[in-house]
Amino acid sequence: MEYKTGDWRSSKPVWNWEKCTKCGLCWLFCPDASIRQRDDGFYEADLDYCKGCGICARECKPGAISMVEEER
Ligand code: SF4
Ligand code: SF4
Repeated sequence: MEYKTGDWRSSKPVWNWEKCTKCGLCWLFCPDASIRQRDDGFYEADLDYCKGCGICARECKPGAISMVEEER
């Protein structure tokens, strides 16, 4: 699968916080530092900077992050 970077991406991460253990690995591994921790301790992506690489979803052991096709 090919991922584009730059001014658009082909997919974006979507969280299922019911599966999230707040381990912080997604935040640690995001190469663009585009994941932030919310006040409630859960994580989310800043889609202004997320490139859709899918690393966060791959590193999340509980499977709380899914990559979904970007809507256009
Ligand atoms: S890696 Fe997964 S379980 Fe860990 S904080 Fe991120 S979303 Fe939650
Ligand atoms: S898809 Fe890539 S750039 Fe976007 S939040 Fe996940 S690790 Fe970061």
